[in-house]
Amino acid sequence: MNIVLFGPPGSGKGTQAKMLAEKYSIPHISTGDILRDNLKRETKLGLEAKSYMDKGELVPDDVLIGIIKDRLSQSDCASGFLLDGYPRTLPQADALSTILNEIGKKLDIVLNIDVPPDDELIKRLAGRRMCACGASYHVLFNPPEQEGLCNLCGNKLYHRDDDKEEAIINRLDVYKHQTQPLINYYTKEGVMLTVNGAAGISEVFDEICRLLDDLKTGDS
Ligand code: ADP
Ligand code: AMP
Repeated sequence: MNIVLFGPPGSGKGTQAKMLAEKYSIPHISTGDILRDNLKRETKLGLEAKSYMDKGELVPDDVLIGIIKDRLSQSDCASGFLLDGYPRTLPQADALSTILNEIGKKLDIVLNIDVPPDDELIKRLAGRRMCACGASYHVLFNPPEQEGLCNLCGNKLYHRDDDKEEAIINRLDVYKHQTQPLINYYTKEGVMLTVNGAAGISEVFDEICRLLDDLKTGDS
């Protein structure tokens, strides 16, 4: 299955994507993770992206399109993929459709994780804690077993710079202006389905799995 997980920052894309990738054995492709990995390794790409990411702005389209083109052509995407955080603009969506055409694939579904209002998203982002191993927690909604430490590797958790108040407000604004219009775009293409992202983590997961299982058996 070729899936896009769509939604505002903090809607739960990364949380759901990790669980879905395991259940359906497809790679989880998070453009945010790819950029953060480049930042950590101080690559040219990472250094170029840093100033945008710190402010909560979008990294330029040509950079992202190049990343996705590369990643989707890798062999582990042959039987499907789960995109998280891409596309975020209309040019990125157009480019995705061109890339998929070129490699003889198409999107099966764009899942819109709907979480109104902003207050809830702000609470989720402000309380998110990350581990260098990729695991992610929330101080209240998904706390680690030992405060401040990763359940999986025991390392100290950190608070992303762009999960601080000022950057969060900007990211939500960027989402509304540049990314939300894609809901119309994919609705017109007939591939958009919306799930209630305001429910708990496992309820959202169950709803998404139901939709994906229906899609696989041709019920939707
Ligand atoms: P995104 O990838 O969409 O930016 P995340 O998956 O990282 O969002 O989730 C943001 C924060 O909210 C994380 O700390 C996560 O643990 C928490 N979270 C995710 N889904 C839910 C949910 N359904 N209810 C409460 N908290 C959630
Ligand atoms: P995320 O981890 O998805 O919240 O992304 C973190 C940051 O990475 C965003 O605020 C952007 O600065 C950058 N980023 C990730 N994906 C994209 C994208 N598709 N287009 C532009 N910038 C992106």
